[in-house]
Amino acid sequence: MPVYKAPTRDTKFVVNELIGLDRFTNLPGFANATRDLTDAVIDEGGRFVSEVVAPLNQIGDREGCTRHADGSVTTPTGFKHAYRQYVEGGWATLSAPEAFGGQGLPHAIGFVMEEYLASANQAFAMYPGLANGAISAILSKGSAEQQATYLPKMVTGEWLGTMNLTEPHCGTDLGLLRTRAEPQADGSYAVTGTKIFISAGDHDLSDNIIHLVLAKTPGAPESSKGISLFIVPKFLVNADGSLGARNAVSVGSIENKMGIHGNATCVMNYDAATGFLVGEECKGLAAMFIMMNAARLGVGMQGLAQAEAAYQNAVIYAQERRQGRAPTGPAEPQHKADPLFVHPDVRRMLMDAKTFTEGMRALSLWGGFQVDLSHHAATEEERIAADDVISLMTPVIKGYGTDMGYKIATDMQQIWGGHGYIAENGMEQFVRDARIAMIYEGANGVQAMDLCGRKLAQHGGRAIQRLFALVDDEVAAAGTELAAVAGPLSKANGELKAATMWFMHNAMTDPNALGAGAYAYMTLTGVVSLGLMWLKMARVAAAALDAGSDEAAFYHAKLTCARHWATRFAPQAGALRREVEAGADTVMALPIEAFATA
Ligand SMILES: Cc1cc2nc3c(=O)[nH]c(=O)nc-3n(C[C@H](O)[C@H](O)[C@H](O)COP(=O)(O)OP(=O)(O)OC[C@H]3O[C@@H](n4cnc5c(N)ncnc54)[C@H](O)[C@@H]3O)c2cc1C
Repeated sequence: MPVYKAPTRDTKFVVNELIGLDRFTNLPGFANATRDLTDAVIDEGGRFVSEVVAPLNQIGDREGCTRHADGSVTTPTGFKHAYRQYVEGGWATLSAPEAFGGQGLPHAIGFVMEEYLASANQAFAMYPGLANGAISAILSKGSAEQQATYLPKMVTGEWLGTMNLTEPHCGTDLGLLRTRAEPQADGSYAVTGTKIFISAGDHDLSDNIIHLVLAKTPGAPESSKGISLFIVPKFLVNADGSLGARNAVSVGSIENKMGIHGNATCVMNYDAATGFLVGEECKGLAAMFIMMNAARLGVGMQGLAQAEAAYQNAVIYAQERRQGRAPTGPAEPQHKADPLFVHPDVRRMLMDAKTFTEGMRALSLWGGFQVDLSHHAATEEERIAADDVISLMTPVIKGYGTDMGYKIATDMQQIWGGHGYIAENGMEQFVRDARIAMIYEGANGVQAMDLCGRKLAQHGGRAIQRLFALVDDEVAAAGTELAAVAGPLSKANGELKAATMWFMHNAMTDPNALGAGAYAYMTLTGVVSLGLMWLKMARVAAAALDAGSDEAAFYHAKLTCARHWATRFAPQAGALRREVEAGADTVMALPIEAFATA
């Protein structure tokens, strides 16, 4: 059975040494984040997911969820018990606002738990994960009454939530959606339509499920400008907060899918179900983006999470499995063969994995910290700066994080050879589970378009200029002993600047050029962002070594990974820039008929 042990030492490195979260306890929203408390959350959270949630990963994959004849849905063996412990342990409340029963800890700490949960069991993690998106939308767009009715129980995890966007004929282009909401005399709406692929659409984990549903009101424009957002509870809520009548929402079926079998992905039927408008009619798109941005960062972390879990199991296997001899001669002559670890090609994959997971952990938690600063930094200027950075980085963390997460998961499966392909060993589950993160919450091609079509141009390119400056400042601050990392990072940043300039000069005259280059541009931004994290981490590690740390091996490994980024990841930047600059000529040249092969 695969194992998972939360990487608590590395998380503490990022939280305490890289971000230095406890230096910000003077800011509102950070007051509770003392080092003692955050260290305890990291240790205890890690213990909880490793001991309680991880052992259910393969069970969930094998059993899946069941829809019963009465329409009810049950989760795999053990999920309900583990979820009860999750709620009782207060794990759902970490970064939720204190006003609704949360612990008010920074998002950076909430993200730690999201990573651990998704590594241990992505299907399980998605039950509270989707609820987080729903909570964000109600928090920012719900009325005071809606917040008081739903948030206290959602924050504790007693009630879960879903996001109902997708319909059979539309996923990316939600302007096409057909679900209708008719106003009723009492101010509510009757919601009718079919939603598909709804994660955690129904289950037995919580007493109520608060569905957030996109629909159109009569006469609304037939585009995304006509979308409204509704709260449609599974059970209506009485004035005293108790559960009332069962609403007219039901599960048509559970999808049979490639991975995350333990999560109930449902077809949801709304038959004049009672819904309550969130915000104003036809203003649902803004609420939807709040919901999706929260969820997109969570999905980006799923890439990291699957890569980390697969990596841990590949490391163990590469030590135990013996095949062949080291190219430099037998490493362990007392045995008939050396462990896989001696082979440079196996090492290459393990070093790529270590460099990606540690770099991505830093980028994700630093991203969570930017979310916190965008709300709580001392000045308006700093809040805007943090908001610019995290808006720009959200599609990158989602797109690059999940592409690389999937790649690393398959590399780690590769290290297991044929045994990686055999179900009982669990490596192929990591690959299957990692695959969906590249698709949902907006497929990665759509993330690339969000980055290049929306985020780059906003406020005259202010956000990307901030990223350039962050990298340039970090390079300037690096001493000569870090030149081997700072030099390649500066060069990669130069490639990103050139690619941005190329878009500025060419995308207006040829809109296809933007679409054809967007994916390479997103990957290039990912490479540079990871490098920014590695140079920051290298600086911290070098300082710790200079100070005579008694964890020299840990910090030396950081410096080696930083150099691995510089020699193995940074060179991709030049090729990616050239891909951007290739424009759309060959991409769009052929007529559709030319793609037929028969
Ligand atoms: C397991 C699972 C769980 C899910 N959970 C949820 C959920 O909880 N709630 C929910 O609402 N939905 C959910 N989804 C739906 C998911 O978000 C969509 O499948 C996804 O957004 C893509 O939409 P689509 O499948 O309709 O593909 P399409 O929109 O048809 O896209 C197909 C391909 O075309 C590309 N494409 C489409 N339009 C453009 C464009 N303008 N520019 C460039 N490329 C484009 C896409 O990138 C994609 O590669 C889930 C899906 C799955 C499989």
